[in-house]
Amino acid sequence: MSKILDLLIPARCASCGVPGAPCCATCQAVWGSLSEITRGPTAGLVPVYALARYADEARRLILAYKERGRRDLAPSLGRAVADVLEQLPGEPRGPCLVPVPSRRHASRVRGGPHVQRVAEECAKVHASKGKSVTVAPVLRLGAGVRDAVGLTRAERAANLDGRIRLLRGDCPKEVVLLDDVITTGATVAACARLLGVNGIHVSAVVALAATG
Ligand SMILES: [Zn+2]
Repeated sequence: MSKILDLLIPARCASCGVPGAPCCATCQAVWGSLSEITRGPTAGLVPVYALARYADEARRLILAYKERGRRDLAPSLGRAVADVLEQLPGEPRGPCLVPVPSRRHASRVRGGPHVQRVAEECAKVHASKGKSVTVAPVLRLGAGVRDAVGLTRAERAANLDGRIRLLRGDCPKEVVLLDDVITTGATVAACARLLGVNGIHVSAVVALAATG
């Protein structure tokens, strides 16, 4: 039924409401080139890049995608990531994206791990151009991890400590971590450290947006 409704009701931009597509060209332009951002927990560990500041269109699009069921935004978010991957300094050809994991509850509510879906859409864009980007969803958040919203940096670190797990699976020795929003940097730092101690080098973190 919902599929039929989707066909009958034209998509509207999740940011500005203009009819036509899940994200209009004007709002899609919020995803710019990569800017390196600085966060305490990732300093000296891994370079972190974001496509936009977490405000205005970027914030509206991410919130609509994550919290308001606009899963139809996944292709446009994936395209935004695909457009910048080649800008990564020293990026080897055919990078492997490791999505930062979602909480299990959030994954259920949001219809599956939302960052993984963006990574898969990004890989599709590259595949359509004959380039190879792989996705290795090898990280999981264990039970007991609270939503990070409203937690201080120290609370976030404690919240994550020992709760991220590395699954057995195909994963190359060099990867790019993909996240939606960078706030304190504690989550991506914890992911990069866990991968690092398991012999997987994180060459960069790419996020759709960063606060501040
Ligand atoms: Zn728009």
